[in-house]
Amino acid sequence: MNDWPDIRAAVAKLCTGFPGEYWRAKDKNSDYPIEFVEALTREGWLSALIPEDFGGSGLPLSAACAILEEIHASGGNGAAAHAQMYVMGTLLRHGSPAQKAQYLPAVARGELRLQAFGVTEPTSGSDTLSLRTTAVRDGDNYLINGQKIWTSRAAQSDLMVLLARTTPKDQVAKRTEGLSVFLLDMRDCPGLSIQPIETMMNHGTTAVFFDNVKIPAANRIGEEGQGFRYILSGMNAERILIAAECIGDARFFLDRATSYAKERQVFGRPIGRNQGIQFPLAQAHARAHAAKLVVADACRRYESGEVAGAEANMAKMLAAEASWQAGEAAMQTLGGFAFAAEYDIERKFRETRLYQVAPVSTNLILAYIAEHVLGLPKGY
Ligand SMILES: Cc1cc2nc3c(=O)[nH]c(=O)nc-3n(C[C@H](O)[C@H](O)[C@H](O)COP(=O)(O)OP(=O)(O)OC[C@H]3O[C@@H](n4cnc5c(N)ncnc54)[C@H](O)[C@@H]3O)c2cc1C
Repeated sequence: MNDWPDIRAAVAKLCTGFPGEYWRAKDKNSDYPIEFVEALTREGWLSALIPEDFGGSGLPLSAACAILEEIHASGGNGAAAHAQMYVMGTLLRHGSPAQKAQYLPAVARGELRLQAFGVTEPTSGSDTLSLRTTAVRDGDNYLINGQKIWTSRAAQSDLMVLLARTTPKDQVAKRTEGLSVFLLDMRDCPGLSIQPIETMMNHGTTAVFFDNVKIPAANRIGEEGQGFRYILSGMNAERILIAAECIGDARFFLDRATSYAKERQVFGRPIGRNQGIQFPLAQAHARAHAAKLVVADACRRYESGEVAGAEANMAKMLAAEASWQAGEAAMQTLGGFAFAAEYDIERKFRETRLYQVAPVSTNLILAYIAEHVLGLPKGY
C-alpha cells in the first residue's frame, strides 16, 4: 500500500511553521489553531478526501492517514483536520447531489467549516440509540429540541452534522431506526446556544443546546429514520484516521525521549545507557510498530471496500494504547523535565489520553470484538 512519502514530506514541512511554541500558546489560551487550519486549507490538505469533482484532491484514506500522522509526529494536533475529513464523509456518502453541490466545493475552498459532529448527549453517552434530542417535522422544516455534549469545535464551525430522533424510540420497528441526520447551518441560527467546556487539553469542546432550532427539511441527509446507519458508516474512517494520529503521537514521544536519553548525563553517563530507560522505549517502539501495521491493514481493507469494522476498531484501540505507552515512557525518560510545558511532553500526554475514550471508548471496542469477531453474546 502507498505510504505517501511525498505527502508526508510536504506536511512535515508545513508543520515546521507551527512549532511547539505555537501549540503551547494555543493550549494555554484554549485557542482554536486558526492559522494552522488556514495553512492546511491553503495547501489543500483539509480537502484531501473531497472528490476532485467537488474541488478537493480525491485522495484515498491512507493519504489522509499520512497527513494526520505527520501532523501529530511533529508535535501538532490534527483534530480540526480529522473532524472535517470524516464529518464531510457523511455528506459525501449519503447527501443528495444538490446538497453535495451546495456545500462540498465551499468546504473544499475553506469558505465553510464543517468540523462539528453532534452525536453524544449527556444522558445517553456511549448508548447512541438512546439519544433524546428530537427533530419534529413542521411543514418544510424540522424543529430541533434537546442537548448535545462534547461537541468539539461547534463554536468554530459553520456547519454541524447532527443526529436527532425523528421517531420516538418506542414506535420504531427496529431499534436502529428512528434517528435522522441533518446538516445544520450554525451561522445564523436562532435557538442555538453553545457553551464551552473546559477540558484538560485544548479541543474546543462544547455543550450545545437546541431550543426550537429550525432546520429546513432540505437539509436532512438521506432518508428519515436511517440516520444511525449513515453515522455508523462513517465511523470506520473516523477510527482509522484517529489511529493514524495516535501513531504520530507515539513517534513524537519516542523521538523526543530517545534524543533526550542520548544527551542527558546523570551519574557521569547518558541515561539512555540504562536498560531501565531503554526497555520501556523499546517496548513502546515495538507496540507502535505493531499498531501501525494494524492501521495499515484496516486502511487497505477500507479502501478496497471490504468490511473493515473489526480492523478499524482494533486499529484505533491498539494505536491509542501504543501512543499512551510511548507517552508514559517519554514522561519517565524526561523525569522532572517532562512536566515542564516547554518540552511539549506533558501537553501531548494530555492530548493523546483522549483517544482511549473518544470517539469511542476502549471498553466499547472490546465489546464489539467480543460480539462481532468472537461470537460471544452481546454484553449490553
Ligand atoms: C474531548 C472530547 C471531545 C469529544 N468530541 C465529540 C464530538 O465532537 N462529537 C460527539 O458526538 N462526541 C464527542 N465526544 C464524546 C465521546 O465520543 C464520548 O465521550 C465517548 O463516546 C464516551 O461516552 P461518555 O463520555 O458518555 O461515556 P459513557 O458512555 O458514560 O461511559 C463511561 C465509561 O463506562 C464504560 N461503559 C459504558 N457502557 C459500558 C458497557 N456496556 N460495557 C463496558 N463498559 C461500558 C465506557 O467504556 C467508559 O469507560 C468527545 C468527548 C471528549 C472527551
